[in-house]
Amino acid sequence: MPKSTVKIEHRYLELPDSFYTRVQPTPLSEPRMVCFNHKLATQLGFHVQNEADWAKVGAGLELLDGMDPVAMKYTGHQFGVYNPELGDGRGLLLWETVAPGGTRWDWHLKGAGTTPYSRFGDGRAVLRSTIREYLCSEAMHGLGIATTRALFMISAKDPVRRESIETAAALMRVAQSHIRFGHFEFAAHHEGPEALKTLLEHVITLHFPHLISLPEEQRHQRWFEEVVERTARLIADWQAVGFCHGVMNSDNMSIIGDTFDYGPYAFLDDFDAGYICNHTDQGGRYAYNRQPHTGFVNCQYLANALLPIMDEDDVRRGMRRYEIAYNEHFKNNMKTKLGLEEAEESDMSLIMDTFSMLHEHRIDYTRFFRGISNLNRHGNAPVLDLFTDRSVADEWLERFEARLQKETRAHDEREYAMRQVNPKYILRNYLAQQVIMEAQNGDYAPLKDLLKVLENPFDEQPEHEHYASLPPDWGKHLNISCSS
Ligand code: AMP
Ligand code: MG
Repeated sequence: MPKSTVKIEHRYLELPDSFYTRVQPTPLSEPRMVCFNHKLATQLGFHVQNEADWAKVGAGLELLDGMDPVAMKYTGHQFGVYNPELGDGRGLLLWETVAPGGTRWDWHLKGAGTTPYSRFGDGRAVLRSTIREYLCSEAMHGLGIATTRALFMISAKDPVRRESIETAAALMRVAQSHIRFGHFEFAAHHEGPEALKTLLEHVITLHFPHLISLPEEQRHQRWFEEVVERTARLIADWQAVGFCHGVMNSDNMSIIGDTFDYGPYAFLDDFDAGYICNHTDQGGRYAYNRQPHTGFVNCQYLANALLPIMDEDDVRRGMRRYEIAYNEHFKNNMKTKLGLEEAEESDMSLIMDTFSMLHEHRIDYTRFFRGISNLNRHGNAPVLDLFTDRSVADEWLERFEARLQKETRAHDEREYAMRQVNPKYILRNYLAQQVIMEAQNGDYAPLKDLLKVLENPFDEQPEHEHYASLPPDWGKHLNISCSS
């Protein structure tokens, strides 16, 4: 099936044996293709005529020539507690391919059955959670935020027991890398410096090739700095768009800075700084406003893992990059959202006061920023309508107008640019919930429609206006089950 221009590699197998176990998928029965990402397949170098052909691969009924499935071994900190027992418990890395342009892709089949790292799990994924991961990875990509991608997903007849009996599904997740911070923790804490260094060089060779030619100490130092910076920037992107990950354990942190492992995530509707999207996270460890700090803590876990092979001062210097990169990127993101190009000393207080106002009055985050991107075209009303107390909005708008006096860009040009960063369409929880319910009744069309809308979240799409609506009452505080 692969075109001859696609190269098949499996470089992960070059790592020491302890980093993986060969496992064959446990087949699912009577698979149905739910969704196939043709655009992405083309990018990978695959020209797919008949998507149904791929359902068997998704169900683990068939492997393509060159696929050599392995469960990856990693460990990690879950809610602050080190767990040495982790690893791919239900996913398999099938192979790596290199597209004609040179981009490499890991193919990871999530929901492929048990592995030696399954612990008490059944190795399966359910339709509901698989749709949520598919939707969000593509939504994030549409927003321009680094993420793993969804190539296709299947559903199957097999029953899966969660709180109730659910439908089995599997996702073909692709990404430049599936290596996590937790891989480094495994190497450092269980395998020793040799294995750790092998892993580090592997990651640099494949994903940081611009560092290869540097002398060792500098190479490692610069690499760590880059990982820390990418992580900080990723989280600044999440904060700016109102995304809450929900399970920021170090085994869910990608070494290349992708958003990784979608579980009980949420995009904020009404802004609530302390929002906790994961209802098993009772202490709010991973609440929206704690994500920047949590990213730092995860970098610390990685830093600790690197100490056996890196100079402590180099590691410390790398860690210092976190706050700098985060603050810089966050400020830039927010200034762009506000349409501010000029540097004014008061900008950071305007940003923070805006957040305070949104929080205090529980204003819809997405509609607020879209609204202020259209003041010239649509006037103040769409913004004012979000507030119960309009005087609060009036006061803010006055301050904003005053700040805009310092800008030199034409209004139309500024608002055009603002609309390229303030999405009209966002993957609201209730939208995901709706298409999941339809899919559970066998209708995948609403899911596909929603995916299409989220592909271009910054476009007006007048025919899809209703996808930009505020959540109905039933959809405001949905309890997303963590079991997936
Ligand atoms: P997560 O919270 O989804 O990031 O998963 C944490 C760990 O549990 C990883 O090692 C997963 O592979 C494993 N895991 C999650 N769900 C299952 C399942 N249904 N069966 C086996 N392992 C699982
Ligand atoms: Mg995970």
